[in-house]
Amino acid sequence: MSERIGRRAILAGSAAAAVVAFDPIGRSWVTTAHASCGAGGISIPNLDGELTVDPAAIAEAADDFGHIISRTPIAVLRPASAKDIRKMVKYANDHGLKVAMRGQGHSTQGQAQVQGGVVIDSRTLNVIHSITNKRAVVDAGVTWSALVAASIADGRTPPVLTDYLDLSVGGTLSVGGVGGATNRKGVQLDNVIELDVVTGKGKLVTCSKTKKRDLFEAVLGGLGQYGIIVKATLRLEAAKESARIYRLIYADVDQYVADQVTLADDERFDYLEGQVQPNGLGGFQYMIEAAAWFSDPNLPDDDDLLDGLSFDSSTVEDQPYEQWLRRLEPTIAFLKLIGIWGFPHPWLDLFLPASEAASFVGTALTTVATDTQDPILFYPFKRSKLTRPLFRVPEEDVVFLFDILRTAPPIPGVPEALVDLNRSLYDIAAAVGGTRYPISSIPFDPSDWEQHYGDEWENVIELKCEYDPNNVLTPGQNIFP
Ligand SMILES: Cc1cc2nc3c(=O)[nH]c(=O)nc-3n(C[C@H](O)[C@H](O)[C@H](O)COP(=O)(O)OP(=O)(O)OC[C@H]3O[C@@H](n4cnc5c(N)ncnc54)[C@H](O)[C@@H]3O)c2cc1C
Repeated sequence: MSERIGRRAILAGSAAAAVVAFDPIGRSWVTTAHASCGAGGISIPNLDGELTVDPAAIAEAADDFGHIISRTPIAVLRPASAKDIRKMVKYANDHGLKVAMRGQGHSTQGQAQVQGGVVIDSRTLNVIHSITNKRAVVDAGVTWSALVAASIADGRTPPVLTDYLDLSVGGTLSVGGVGGATNRKGVQLDNVIELDVVTGKGKLVTCSKTKKRDLFEAVLGGLGQYGIIVKATLRLEAAKESARIYRLIYADVDQYVADQVTLADDERFDYLEGQVQPNGLGGFQYMIEAAAWFSDPNLPDDDDLLDGLSFDSSTVEDQPYEQWLRRLEPTIAFLKLIGIWGFPHPWLDLFLPASEAASFVGTALTTVATDTQDPILFYPFKRSKLTRPLFRVPEEDVVFLFDILRTAPPIPGVPEALVDLNRSLYDIAAAVGGTRYPISSIPFDPSDWEQHYGDEWENVIELKCEYDPNNVLTPGQNIFP
């Protein structure tokens, strides 16, 4: 039986080794077995869910999709209510513990890990409370995949979705949430109406653009530093039935960038992404991937959509809209089947000013094997669509996302060398105005964060002092060590 604590467990007098208290001197949990021998400690609050020290839960929380960094918590909270989170954050404040929420654990550099503290597993907070015409109210642990399934059944869709949907709402709202619709509709952060947040002081607060706006803007893209999102009200819009997908191939990077900027500017597509791919001839080619949503009988006009573009070749394909949203699922199922999904992922994720994009990517590609299987994303979006101050991108009208989604062999030293390479590439990008998308594996210390936040840095410090003065929340980001 797992070692765990919860009100129900205590009342039932169940597990002999259930946690009943925290020993602040030994920094360990006191179980019922210790307590019966007279060991003391500070009682844990009554919980609707459970606090576990089960080794499997601890090992999972000490790891993430990156499989590069590992920090071991002393317990994992599986909350059954926002109240549980409030109580645990208060308890952490009182007893010098650190706490972080973990969504689906898809960070690549320990961002949701807590050495010697408590990880809160949001997967038990997973209720879709309501879906109406224009909005969905969901717990933070709900995945975008679950929300898509429920909302499309009602003919609605979130306006912006990530390429992969098995990410938690709380996890992407803490970082950004970039996708093909970003050029028209901003990132997922820009499509939130209201949040329930447990602040670093352990207070449950409802916030929005018109209510406690400073907290609302702090937690959206706040990397878990000021509060834990427990519930979100998200914008929905009408879903079309189908997607027409255009894949346009370019040999020349400058032409590719020029056409991408044109498309970003005139917003003719509903969805705009793009990739760098091996060309099979010892080099690379560039692919615009753009889509138009439609429902019969209003078909997209191919001539209009492709007008003025200078691609070398193209393909066009129609898919049902939801199938398009779930396009990565078969590949990921296969990668899981053959075990590669569990390999280390030292991801490089950057934002580049459009004027520097071609030149930077040329430099970055000199470090990539020309037969790489790693996806390399390279696509633009308009800065004017972004509304949240803590989501940091370069100061140009059009910004490019550039990601090398690396899978490394689990050979000691190899993933670490790629993390070092990421850092070198980040330094080159930062020198020309690029920024880090904080989901990536790039070592950052507080002076890097100061540079990252630029003129928002003082605000960041003020928000931390206001909402998490004891620096309890989310140490894995290394902003306030
Ligand atoms: C296969 C794959 C595909 C991806 N595709 C995209 C993509 O297309 N676009 C994109 O933008 N990103 C993408 N990402 C990155 C992804 O958006 C981030 O890694 C995101 O943070 C993962 O969500 P998660 O639920 O796993 O969060 P976690 O990794 O568990 O947490 C991320 C951070 O948020 C904090 N956090 C988590 N939940 C909360 C909460 N409720 N309140 C406050 N803080 C919280 C954590 O403490 C941590 O610091 C992808 C990642 C993977 C692995």
